Amino acid sequence: MAGMRDVRNIVILTGAGISAESGIDTFRTAGGLWEKYDPAEVASAEAFARDPGRLLSFYDMRRATVGEKEPNPAHEALGRLDAEWKGELLIVTQNVDNLHELGGANRVLHMHGQHRTAWCTSCDARPHWTGTFADRPPCPACGMRSLRPDVVLFGEMPYHLDRIYPAIRAADLFVSIGTSGAVYPAAGFVRDARELGVRTLELNLEPSDGSHWFDETRLGPASEIVPQWVKEMLG
Ligand code: NAD
Repeated sequence: MAGMRDVRNIVILTGAGISAESGIDTFRTAGGLWEKYDPAEVASAEAFARDPGRLLSFYDMRRATVGEKEPNPAHEALGRLDAEWKGELLIVTQNVDNLHELGGANRVLHMHGQHRTAWCTSCDARPHWTGTFADRPPCPACGMRSLRPDVVLFGEMPYHLDRIYPAIRAADLFVSIGTSGAVYPAAGFVRDARELGVRTLELNLEPSDGSHWFDETRLGPASEIVPQWVKEMLG
């Protein structure tokens, strides 16, 4: 990409596609999670209010599968970029897995929450958590049985927007990796970046819904195209 030498501050948005080759189902791609489950039934704020037991069981099942996976070369390449990049860098992930961290990245924000912690709706504690929820365990901080997954349900406000938008404003380059551009507000970041004159690059298996918003789109599996791009940046 021409002019990459001028880039100093980078914001990277990642989605389920970066973890697909680690064996974690994406949401919307064929054979994905939402062909087996209806998000309105298992992952929305409304569903939680209506039938908390069902939602907690769904997340217990998801945590059990996501928890055993390994980072792939795309996560590892971003870990390397994070370690070596001298300018500002922020990886904003929509993923609740911890594969970016296992791949060596530190500058990571989980805008849709994560599986490694629980959230107590009584005392607001966020304890490290590897157990289940459906059996209603007590909160380690206050003892109330009000723990839930620390993930953002459909209909809830994403985390860390107060840090993400300033990072986009300060960026020279916005890169979107493995996300379909169907879930807002993350899907709108590319437009926000564009309006600010930030260069935009999409790395994806197939063009996303908002592909036309990007200055450049590179297609291929994340495990190949992300390491190539990182090599270019660090080159
Ligand atoms: P999505 O399923 O809507 O889209 C997946 C995208 O990844 C598609 O654009 C597809 O082309 C691309 N893709 C698939 N395989 C790829 C590969 N090998 N290399 C590169 N790209 C590939 O997922 P999304 O856009 O992240 O949807 C947003 C929601 O999905 C978020 O709410 C997120 O929390 C959730 N989600 C997270 C996980 C996870 O934690 N790993 C898994 C599934 C869904």
